[in-house]
Amino acid sequence: MLWLVFTTGACNLRCSYCGGSFNPRIVPWRVSYNPVRLKELIEGDPEAVVVFYGGEPLLNPRFIMWMMDNVKASRWGIQTNGTLTELLPASYWRRMDTVLLSIDGRRGVTDAHRGVGVYDRVVRALRRLKAIGVGRVIARMAVTSLTDIYLDVTHLLDLGFNLVHWQLDVIWDGKWDLLGWARSSYLPGIRRLTQLFVGRLREGVVLGIVPILGVLSAYLHKPYTGPPCGAGYRSVAVSTDGRVLACPIAVREDWANLGNVNLGFKMMNIEDHLPEMCRNCEYRRYCGGRCLYAIKEGERYWGVDGVKAVDYVTRETIRIILEAGPEVKELVDRGVVKASDLYYDPILDSTEVIP
Ligand code: SF4
Ligand code: SF4
Repeated sequence: MLWLVFTTGACNLRCSYCGGSFNPRIVPWRVSYNPVRLKELIEGDPEAVVVFYGGEPLLNPRFIMWMMDNVKASRWGIQTNGTLTELLPASYWRRMDTVLLSIDGRRGVTDAHRGVGVYDRVVRALRRLKAIGVGRVIARMAVTSLTDIYLDVTHLLDLGFNLVHWQLDVIWDGKWDLLGWARSSYLPGIRRLTQLFVGRLREGVVLGIVPILGVLSAYLHKPYTGPPCGAGYRSVAVSTDGRVLACPIAVREDWANLGNVNLGFKMMNIEDHLPEMCRNCEYRRYCGGRCLYAIKEGERYWGVDGVKAVDYVTRETIRIILEAGPEVKELVDRGVVKASDLYYDPILDSTEVIP
C-alpha cells in the first residue's frame, strides 16, 4: 500500500490555491512521534510504497534520510515543489523510484499561482535530478482557468518529464466558472491530447499522460474499486503528529482519522463511503468515485451545483478518453504496443488518475 509520510507541515512557498504552511497546531512543523513506531508499521507491509509529503518535505531532509537509511520499503518517492532539491544528497535522490515536481505548465501559468521565478527553479531541479540519474520524474500540475491543457501538458513532456499528471483546482479553492472554461478550452484540449496519445501509440510509443494512461489501464486491465488515489483503502497519510489519515488533505476531518502510529489504525471499506451516484455510475470502473475528499466535503465548499459541474467534467473527460479504447485495444491485439505497457497502478506513483 501507499504511505504518504508528512515530514513537516511547513512550506517555503504560498501558492494561491493552497496558501502555504499548515497551522502548526493541526500539522506540526516537526515530526513529533517516535519514527521507530512508523518503521515497524511500514515494515509489516510487504509492498510498502513510501512517498514523502508536506508542507514541503525537503524542509526536513534529516527525517527523509533517517527513514531511507533505517526503514525497509519496496519503493521510495517524494512530492516536492522542486525549489529545494539541493538539500538532499544525490545518493538519496538516486534511490527515489518516483519524484513528483509541482509545476503547472508554461512559465507564465506556473508563476502566476506559485510565485515569480518558481518555473525556472523547477526546470533547474528537473535537469539536476536527470543528471543525477533519477529515472522517473513526474510533473504534478494544478489546473486552473489559466491552463491550456494541450499546450501545458505537451510543454512539460517536451521539457523531459517522464509523466505528467494534473488535478483540477476545484472544491478546495474558491468557486470559478469551471463549466464555461471546460466547454471552451479544457474538454477540446483533452480530445487533442487523446488524439496525440493514440497517434504516438500507433508508432509504438506510450506517452506519459497519467489521466489517459490511467483510464485506459482500467479499460484494458483492472477496474478501480474506489478513488484511484487509494484514499483510506490502499493508501494512508501519516501526519507529523502521528495520526494516520485516509487522505493527506483531510487533516481536520474526523471521518479521515484511521488511528495513529502508536496504537495502530484500521483501513476503510471504501464501498461504505461511495455515494449512490458513484455506485450506479457507468464510469465507476474508470473513475472509482474520483476523490474521497470531494465526496465528503464537496457540497460544503462548492454546493450541489458545483459538485455536479465537477462531475460533468469528470464524465466528459473519461468519455473522450474511452472513445479511443477500441483502437487502443486493436493496437494491442496487433502487437504494436504491449498490454503491459498500458498498465498503470497510481499507488506506485502517488497520483490520482482522474483530474
Ligand atoms: S464519474 Fe462521477 S458519479 Fe461516476 S464514479 Fe466518477 S465521481 Fe462517481
Ligand atoms: S484524490 Fe481526493 S481523496 Fe484522494 S488523496 Fe487527493 S484529495 Fe485525498
